[in-house]
Amino acid sequence: MKVLKFGGTSVGSVENLNKVFEIVKSQKKKNEALIVVCSALGGVTDQIISATNIAKSGEGDFEPEIKKIYKRHKDILKAFGIKDKIADEHLKVSFDKINSLLEGVQLLGQLPDHSLAHLVSFGERLSCYIIAEILNKKGVKTRFINASNLIKTDSNYLSARVDFETTDLNIQNEFAKFKDVAIVTGFIGSNRKGHITTLGRGGSDFTASIFAAALNVEEIQIWTDVNGVLTADPRKVDQAFTVPSLSYLEAMELSHFGAKVIYPPTIQPVLNKAIPLKIKNTSNPEHAGTSISLESVDDGNVIKGISSISNVTILRFEGSGLVGVIGMAARLFSALSQAEVNIIFLTQGSSEHSICFGVLPADAKKAKRSVEAAFSLEIKSGYIQPLIVEENKAIVAVIGERMHKQPGIAAKMFKALGKNGINISAIAQGSSELNITAVIDNKHEAKALNALHEIFFKSDYSSINLFIVGPSGLIGGTLLEQIKRQSQYLKAEKSIEINVTGLINSTKMLIDSNGIDLNNWESTFKKTSTKSDLQAFIDKINTLDFSNSVFVDCSASSTVVEYYEQILEKSISVVTPNKIANTLSQKKYDRLRQLAKKSGASFLYETNVGAGLPVISTLDALQNSGDKILKIEAVLSGSLSFIFNSFKGEKLFSDIVKEAQQKGYTEPDPRDDLSGLDVARKALILSREIGISKELGDFEVENLIPKQGRKGSVEEFFNVLKKNDKHFSELKAKAEKENKVLRYMAMIDRTEVKIGLQAVDSDHPFYQLSGSDNMIVFTSERYRSNPLVIKGPGAGAEVTAAGVFAEIISIGNYMEN
Ligand code: ADP
Ligand code: ASP
Ligand code: MG
Repeated sequence: MKVLKFGGTSVGSVENLNKVFEIVKSQKKKNEALIVVCSALGGVTDQIISATNIAKSGEGDFEPEIKKIYKRHKDILKAFGIKDKIADEHLKVSFDKINSLLEGVQLLGQLPDHSLAHLVSFGERLSCYIIAEILNKKGVKTRFINASNLIKTDSNYLSARVDFETTDLNIQNEFAKFKDVAIVTGFIGSNRKGHITTLGRGGSDFTASIFAAALNVEEIQIWTDVNGVLTADPRKVDQAFTVPSLSYLEAMELSHFGAKVIYPPTIQPVLNKAIPLKIKNTSNPEHAGTSISLESVDDGNVIKGISSISNVTILRFEGSGLVGVIGMAARLFSALSQAEVNIIFLTQGSSEHSICFGVLPADAKKAKRSVEAAFSLEIKSGYIQPLIVEENKAIVAVIGERMHKQPGIAAKMFKALGKNGINISAIAQGSSELNITAVIDNKHEAKALNALHEIFFKSDYSSINLFIVGPSGLIGGTLLEQIKRQSQYLKAEKSIEINVTGLINSTKMLIDSNGIDLNNWESTFKKTSTKSDLQAFIDKINTLDFSNSVFVDCSASSTVVEYYEQILEKSISVVTPNKIANTLSQKKYDRLRQLAKKSGASFLYETNVGAGLPVISTLDALQNSGDKILKIEAVLSGSLSFIFNSFKGEKLFSDIVKEAQQKGYTEPDPRDDLSGLDVARKALILSREIGISKELGDFEVENLIPKQGRKGSVEEFFNVLKKNDKHFSELKAKAEKENKVLRYMAMIDRTEVKIGLQAVDSDHPFYQLSGSDNMIVFTSERYRSNPLVIKGPGAGAEVTAAGVFAEIISIGNYMEN
């Protein structure tokens, strides 16, 4: 014999009822009963509750709501061609009863629990009645059974406790000779006096399990609207997927910590008899779903699922009176149990100085009152503090029986939460090691679940959410183009999904939490009318609270840089080619790093020096592996590199500068390059990276702009430069005489930094430089006689954007580290 249970959505529409029929028909064995437990039609329980609230308030009319429910049942019967008088009469009598009960509620202005239980019971009674009619009509012999006559409970009307002894006997007697299909109401029972009680919201699962255990069936199947138990709540974690198998204990933990797919009390009765339990999808019966049994099967994942309970209140019971005193915890729990407070979460520090527990918000006041009353003497004398109440918390739990004795799970969990800037207020792990739970702020719940899902179920992909400043600039635009081209590959091959969630420039901004379509981002951005407001943009990033949020500053603005601190503080990573932040004061430079370290966010700026060339990362790798940098010599300006690499033969210096300007190798005003300031900024970053604290003003920087040409227009500057050609030609001639070439370079050693023109001989790596390449030469303890050289294009939108892109991806890969 089997028990099948169909939830509200499974029986909510004509289409689904046809599927229910197919499933029931295919599972019915000749000469053997089949028990089919059904919920109310999807949404009906909520509708009845809302009608009772209207009635109780005395404001408004409950009738339209009730009429809607009536019509829904009637329409379904009609759709299956059932028009007989008996069915009509049954509906009519039931709805008359509902209306008269509601009138009573309205009259008294009160809604006692027993009335509410009675009213909501009509949901299941009506659905099961019509389902039995439908199956009969379709040729499957069925009997409607009102389980409230069989399941006996106490008088806790809205969440009643079952008297299993009587209930089991009742069920066994009822089905002793039964060989057909029974359509059994879920959710409801009755107390000794025969008054209807309910088993708690979602209780139809429990009904099915009570029947399964009483009849000791071969299997119980819970049919719902998802493909089994998923790794997380699919409404909160898009990437959740079906867990093929679970142990009873794992299923119990998952449901206790909020996985709505199974009502928590469901597991115990079937566990006692080791009856296999399956969770299946009514709309997708071919899918294997989830099998729940005694053993936790090794499917390669130690963690089976992640659950959460939103909105809990944490209470802290603290004081010196707790230390070493026997029986304090017992008194605490007995006070809570007398007040009928359910404890969801519990932890005690080993100092015994505090016990922290979590309850539903509705129980918080009761909990505080009862505990403070029980410890009134201790509180008066100061040994125990009045309870501290923290509201708006959420509990997240990772669950899996196989984590038992496996090290590193907690570390992984807390790393993921920390990386995403989620503060943990309390932690608990049951000694059975079935779960690790953490209490966090409610507002971070979704982010926490997604971050944990990414780290524990990497088999899918991790997503990175980008907020880009300067999308219309050269680097920003190129970056977006590169992301668009690469996104398919990254998802398929690297399991990384990149969502561009926000764009902002100096005039407008656009945020789309579902991700901006990169195929037409330009026209979408053009159409947006939201005025640029960087603070509002950042506030929005915070409220969205996505895991792996990255702020990408592709601007050259000093205003944007001012926001880095608050961004990093919120654990949002910053990736930028903008050099400004790293070239302000040493204090600011240190602060940014401290903030990133504290919040677990990344601050990445490889493209500050040498564009896409791996300069900063090489420095990091050398130093992290214990090498010491002794000297850095570098040609760091593509413009100056081009100018001096071309300054050969008869060519005049001013002509080469002009050519470089025309080819776009220099800034529109070449003085921005010739001043040496850009090189100095990069040199400053390099020196800070090797641990030398410097300010820009500390450097000797050779300015190549002749004094008279420093003011005035670009044209005037060229005129002055022409007059100085002789000076440059002489410098070149002198170098050539010694077989040397001129290079504008930065030299950084551990005592000084020099930036300027130097003549280098043919032994020097710079001698061979050509085009507009950058070259960086590291002399270190390891690379002393034969320095390490990095050479290549050090400017250009493509290579810079690619460098930024690579750093973004490195954030997506953080779990590997
Ligand atoms: P039914 O009406 O069939 O009893 P429920 O709404 O009570 O269905 O439970 C199914 C729902 O539970 C799913 O639609 C899903 O949104 C939610 N849910 C929450 N957590 C999980 C999880 N870990 N696995 C599957 N579903 C979950
Ligand atoms: N109809 C009840 C509810 O909505 C019971 C159930 O569906 O399991 O809570
Ligand atoms: Mg349910």
